[in-house]
Amino acid sequence: MSGQIDDLPPLREVIARHGLMAKKALGQNFLLDLNLTARIARQAGPLEGHDVVEVGPGPGGLTRALLAEGARRVIAVEKDPRCLPALAEIADRYPGRLEIVEGDALETGLADMVRSPARIIANLPYNVATPLLTGWLLTEPWPAWFSSMTLMFQREVAERICAAPGSKSYGRLSVLSQWRCEAEIAFDVGPKAFTPPPKVTSSVAVLYPRGNPLPCPADALQRVTAAAFGQRRKMLRQSLKSLGGADLLERAGIEPERRAETLDIAEFVALANALSG
Ligand code: SAM
Repeated sequence: MSGQIDDLPPLREVIARHGLMAKKALGQNFLLDLNLTARIARQAGPLEGHDVVEVGPGPGGLTRALLAEGARRVIAVEKDPRCLPALAEIADRYPGRLEIVEGDALETGLADMVRSPARIIANLPYNVATPLLTGWLLTEPWPAWFSSMTLMFQREVAERICAAPGSKSYGRLSVLSQWRCEAEIAFDVGPKAFTPPPKVTSSVAVLYPRGNPLPCPADALQRVTAAAFGQRRKMLRQSLKSLGGADLLERAGIEPERRAETLDIAEFVALANALSG
């Protein structure tokens, strides 16, 4: 069950020895099956010659897989100081390859810590998963400092990231994600794979940054998607009224009777350019 990817002790033993009782406030749902963490590590493509940024290593199940799969270096940002001694044992096992940063990933500038090429791979704390992703998607300059993001989310969030126009899940996060990345759900992970089990199913999503996203200012795109999906059932001439309504839509070449969820990424980009131009 726990897998044999290295000669370190099983994660259950690590958790017991370091007293790592999961804290809900930190979104702690640990993965103890090292075969599963190895599958997540492999999902993004080869790790040899890559730096990997991991948010929330916890007791280190995914961290160990990233190192065993050949990552050149793992930079792991963890908010819970209780996890640091367990992570230090992994760092000793892989000299010079694991850098542990104690802190809040929302406030830690990661771009300066990595050498290219780099990937982001994480079983994210669900309470901050969306703001973390949004921060990475809004990275400047673009192309970003990472060549892929392989991230565990609640399935409902992964569906929003990857949703196509016209679907119920299509919204602000879909537009921002797909504007800058190609995004797909790789596989689902049931609650029982985690300790403690969360209430919902999770999914691993993979996002590959686009080399040339359609050009538009990110802040204008954020403003039009916030207004359009803020009243998603209304016609755009109504929901976008405060941004120029029918006039803005005409400049973007979009019929005013349409609703937010029918617009594709290129049409939102046209709206953002009309707004900022
Ligand atoms: N990677 C481990 C695994 O797969 O078993 C743990 C994943 S657990 C879902 C999320 C981890 O993120 C926890 O270790 C938690 O302490 C950490 N965490 C929560 N909020 C954080 C933040 N803002 N910055 C960095 N780490 C955070």
